[in-house]
Amino acid sequence: MMWKGIIEEYREYMPVNEKTRIITMLEGNTPLIYAENISKDFGINLYFKYDGLNPTGSFKDRGMTLAISKAMEDGARAVVCASTGNTSASCAAYAARAGLKAIVLIPDGKIAKGKLAQAIAYGANIFAIDGNFDSALRLVRDMADRFKLTIVNSLNPYRLIGQKSAAFEICDCIGCPEYVFIPVGNAGNISAYWMGFKEYFNNGKIDKLPHMMGFQAAGAAPIVEGRVIEKPETIATAIRIGNPVSWDKAINAAGESGGEIDSVTDEDILKAYRYMASAEGIFAEPASAASLAGLIKKVEQGRVSQGSTVVCILTGNGLKDPDTATGLSLHIRHVSGSGKEIIEDLEGMI
Ligand SMILES: *Cc1c(COP(=O)(O)O)cnc(C)c1O
Repeated sequence: MMWKGIIEEYREYMPVNEKTRIITMLEGNTPLIYAENISKDFGINLYFKYDGLNPTGSFKDRGMTLAISKAMEDGARAVVCASTGNTSASCAAYAARAGLKAIVLIPDGKIAKGKLAQAIAYGANIFAIDGNFDSALRLVRDMADRFKLTIVNSLNPYRLIGQKSAAFEICDCIGCPEYVFIPVGNAGNISAYWMGFKEYFNNGKIDKLPHMMGFQAAGAAPIVEGRVIEKPETIATAIRIGNPVSWDKAINAAGESGGEIDSVTDEDILKAYRYMASAEGIFAEPASAASLAGLIKKVEQGRVSQGSTVVCILTGNGLKDPDTATGLSLHIRHVSGSGKEIIEDLEGMI
């Protein structure tokens, strides 16, 4: 049967009515991929929820379909967001579809190239600000007040309500896993997943709950350090956030579920980024690899028992950030046109 997008598929869990015009690109229904090789390496059952296969290449589409549909229902004049990249891409796309003006504020020079390309292509009004995500979000709040715009960052409650659909999909596919590993930036997604799992539990769809294991980048780990980080730094630009909006919700998700919020270094992230692609053929963006980096850290600490069912959330597509991948260029050997060096190399290799 044809997939109808997360609002129609999970309509009884979504705050819409007959009058809501659903703005959708059939987001959701992303693959839950069993990671055979990595599972063997760690003695667990690992699945990747590959949300990089949403219409604009990140999980943000799950929240944006609802946020934009509700903005239309409420007669919004225009939508506005601050973004490390993926929110702007998603907002621009869904707004284009709805015929709404989209205004996006991004930290100048600090968003991955593919994401910027998307916002440009979808026709958003883009402001690249001299400052980081957190200062962009402050400006967004100002502009929204002044011009009566609808904010579609994750402080918009419809974002999290849409995003909880990913938890439903996992349960519909394999039941409730024991652990969910997930990157944490503004901390909306971990909160949305926890909301989704609890709703399914309360409706008798699952009979246990997972441990929510959230991971920040070490240079941008306000929740782990218990303080706002003024100048967050990490290669994982999607989680380069120093003052997360859903800070308390994330602490609550980790606490209630018997999980935790910890950090991983950029080195761990890059290692996991390459490992995932080379061991499983799955290319996710650096921020997404924080989930696998976190899993590796916790397996090494003995925190994850053998045989556990684990889901790592891959939040965005690797193609979003070509510079990080090409910057590695470990496997490229530059040779002459004759092919002589290729023959030499392959003779030793094949
Ligand atoms: C937005 C985003 C995150 C962080 O999600 P939060 O809800 O802000 O914690 C992680 N990875 C990617 C690829 C993202 O786009």
